[in-house]
Amino acid sequence: MIGFLRRILLIDIFKGLALTLRYTYSKVYTEQYPREKVKLAERYRGAPRLNNDPETGETLCISCDLCAEACPEDLIVVSSVRDPESRKKVLTEYTFDTSRCLFCGLCQEVCPTNAIELTQDFELATYDRKSMLWNRARLEKGWDRIEGHKVYHK
Ligand code: SF4
Ligand code: SF4
Repeated sequence: MIGFLRRILLIDIFKGLALTLRYTYSKVYTEQYPREKVKLAERYRGAPRLNNDPETGETLCISCDLCAEACPEDLIVVSSVRDPESRKKVLTEYTFDTSRCLFCGLCQEVCPTNAIELTQDFELATYDRKSMLWNRARLEKGWDRIEGHKVYHK
């Protein structure tokens, strides 16, 4: 009898509608991206950056090649020349293929000078594979986002 009355009086439909209305006018659960930045986990690993010394502007990379050795995807290439006077290696180029990166963080873990770092930038989408290969300039200065795109590192 109760079940019959529930069906006649459309109780379940009204209960469903009430629930829908309650959520429609209450808290918004959808991320309002890109208007609002998504809150990332503290240890999130995103776009790579090759850090420079903030005082001298010189690269922190000492061309030791440890990051390239540690990378399970073998996607980092460090090129350098040896300074004839100081006998130190001088970085000439650094490439990082973001299309193959697992964002495992091994490269930044092994880096003795904190030169390579995975930042919190997650906006890596692009229209072609070629632009996923980042060179030294791009790694140092941040993603060159012309056409109104933001620059990820400050
Ligand atoms: S995050 Fe992992 S996969 Fe990506 S470059 Fe570093 S070591 Fe390689
Ligand atoms: S481990 Fe660090 S210092 Fe060594 S080559 Fe890689 S980025 Fe440069």
